Amino acid sequence: MTVPAHAYDPEAARSLIVEVSERSGQNLLACYQCRRCAAGCPVGEETGYVTPDRLIRMIALGDRQAALENELVWRCVSCYTCGTRCPNDIQTARITETLKKMAKEAHLEPLRPKIADFHSAFLESGVRWGRANEMEFMGIYEVKGALRSMKKKDFKSIAEELKTQADLGLSMFKRKRMHMGLQVSAGRKEIQRLQKKASQKKR
Ligand code: SF4
Ligand code: SF4
Repeated sequence: MTVPAHAYDPEAARSLIVEVSERSGQNLLACYQCRRCAAGCPVGEETGYVTPDRLIRMIALGDRQAALENELVWRCVSCYTCGTRCPNDIQTARITETLKKMAKEAHLEPLRPKIADFHSAFLESGVRWGRANEMEFMGIYEVKGALRSMKKKDFKSIAEELKTQADLGLSMFKRKRMHMGLQVSAGRKEIQRLQKKASQKKR
C-alpha cells in the first residue's frame, strides 16, 4: 500500500502535539515508532494506511488536516489493544476520541457520518440519563440520519434504513436485548457534572 508523504511543519507540529497531548492525556512525544500498536487493531483492514503509529506521526509532523480527516479516527472502536501493546503506554483510543472532538469543533464533515451520528446520540443519551437507553439513543441516531437524507431528498434510503432498524429492533426485543423503559443511573448527576467540566476544560 502506498503511504502518502506528510510535510513537516515545525510551528504546526508544536501546537498540534501540545493540543492533542493535553486533551487526550497521552504523551505523544514518547512514541518511538516501533509499530507494536499496528498489529492486532481490529479495524486495521478498514483504515487504509492509517495505523495508530502513523496517526501519531501525522500529529508529530503537524499535518492537522490528515490527523483530523482519516478513517482511523472514525473507525476506532476503543478496544485499547494498541495501548496494551505499547511499551510507552500510549492509548490511541484516547487520541482518536480527542481528534473526533477537534474535527467536530472545526465543523469538518465527518468521513463516516453514520458513525458520528451514533457517537453523538450515544453520548447525548448517556449524559442525560447517566447510562444509554437503547430506545432513546437509537431514536436520536435515526432522526439524525433521516434529517441528513432529507436534506439530500434521499427518501429511498430513509425508508430502507427504517425497515432495517425496525427488523433489528424487533429481533433484539425478542431476545430481550432491547429495553422499552427509560433507566436512570444513580450517578447521573455526577456524570453530568463530569461531562460539563470536561467540555469547559481549557484547551
Ligand atoms: S506501540 Fe507505542 S511507541 Fe510503538 S509506535 Fe505504537 S504508539 Fe508508538
Ligand atoms: S483502540 Fe482503536 S486504534 Fe487501538 S487497536 Fe483498538 S480500534 Fe485499533
